[in-house]
Parts: sequence; C-alpha cells; structure tokens
Amino acid sequence: MWIDSHCHLSHPAIKEKGEPLLIINAAKKAGVTSMLNVCCRMSEEIDTLLDISNNNDNVWCSIGTHPHDAGLAEEKAFDKSKIVKIANSSDKIIAIGESGLDYYYDNSTPQEQQQSFRKHIEVCLETDLPLIVHTRDAEQDTIDIMREYSDLTGVMHCFSSHQSLAEKALDMGFYISFSGIVTFKKADALRDAVKIVPLDRVLIETDAPFLAPVPYRGKVNEPAYVSKIGEFLADIYGLEAEKFAKITTDNFYRLFNINK
Ligand SMILES: [Zn+2]
Ligand SMILES: [Zn+2]
Repeated sequence: MWIDSHCHLSHPAIKEKGEPLLIINAAKKAGVTSMLNVCCRMSEEIDTLLDISNNNDNVWCSIGTHPHDAGLAEEKAFDKSKIVKIANSSDKIIAIGESGLDYYYDNSTPQEQQQSFRKHIEVCLETDLPLIVHTRDAEQDTIDIMREYSDLTGVMHCFSSHQSLAEKALDMGFYISFSGIVTFKKADALRDAVKIVPLDRVLIETDAPFLAPVPYRGKVNEPAYVSKIGEFLADIYGLEAEKFAKITTDNFYRLFNINK
C-alpha cells in the first residue's frame, strides 16, 4: 500500500488521460491508498481541488501558488488572511504550497517569488500546516528564507539536489520527497543524497503528470506509478518494498497530521 505525497490531478494532461476519478481508481487498484493533490494556482484550482477531495476518500489537497505563478495579479490577490481562511475551512486541506523559488524559469521575478514564499510560510505558522517547498536553481535563497523562521515544518518536494541541501533541510526538521527522477540513469548524485535521508523523514511522490519513473519515462505520469519509485528506493535502503511502503505511509500521516 503506497501513498503519493504529491500529484496534480487537475492538470490538463491528467484530464486528457481520463477524468480524475478514473486516475484515482487506477491508483487505488495499483495499491495507492492515498494521495495529496497539490495546488499551483489558487485563483483557478482551489474549487476543483476541494471538489475532488470531498468526493474521494483519502485524496487530500493543498492550497498555494507555484513559484512560476507568483507574479500573477490574481494570485497576489490571495493575501495571507484569505489563504488562512480557506485553509481553515476544510479538513481536506492538509498543506500549504507548493511554494518556493525557481530561478530556472523566470516566469516570475525572484522578488515576486520571495514575497510569495514568505507569505506561504507565514500562512503555515498561522494554520500549523506543513509547507510543500519547490526549489530549483535557488537553493541558497530558499534555505536563507526558511531559516528566518522557526517552528516551520514541511517537505522538500521532488528533491533533485545534492547531499548538502538535504542535510540543511533535514536539520530544519523537514522531510525529503523523492520523485521518478531517482530512477533516471544519470541521477547518481541524487541517489547519493538518498543515503543521508533517515527512514523516518523520507516520502515518495509522482509529481504527476510530470516526471514518470522508469519504466514509464516519457509518458504522462499518474499516481498509480508511485510504486515504481517506492520499489526503487526500497532497494537503495535495502528493505522489502512492503516495509518501505509502510514507513513512507506512516511518515506521510505523521507530517500531515492525519489520524489513521
Ligand atoms: Zn514543484
Ligand atoms: Zn508539483
């Protein structure tokens, strides 16, 4: 039994593959008992995300603005108090994000991204919800901003960096989530990073529809494939897949405060 700790069920590529319900059912058939459906644009997605979660047991969701979209006026219109209010309005919202910094693409300026990131962190502190952090080509700034706050908890999602960033995030109490990238041939540095992540801090995710793991690489990703990532990581840790599934499931419930 696996959990996909990060997917985007309302992404158009998923819709093209089938209605969210079909994708969720395929996942459940594949032994994926639960998933976290992550928000990128509050202004467009929040109603759909809540709808999907309310109609499907064990499909949770988050609220937040992806760093790519941090510069959009309609996202800026969601100020801290508005996000707090929505986050507190439903038990199905279990996280804030995904937020963070992405300097690889300059869809939004670094200043806009940093402002948005700080806003999300402050929402976390007010709601006691964990933060889903997206970081790419912006490690130092990401860590510097996170260090300005204490009592922050969350996950470095789709972790694709080196041991040093993993160490810093772990020191702050964060969890590390690995995606299909870990199964890619050239990901040796990433596989080295896995070795320093203790078992009580590791999560797995598809980030569907992106980054399908081997042997589905190049296809539209979906939560049903998360077992491939889990089996691969179990091997690195030298554990039976079933044991590793239980560990990552327990980690998910602990981080996101779900009573099971
Ligand atoms: Zn991301
Ligand atoms: Zn994502």
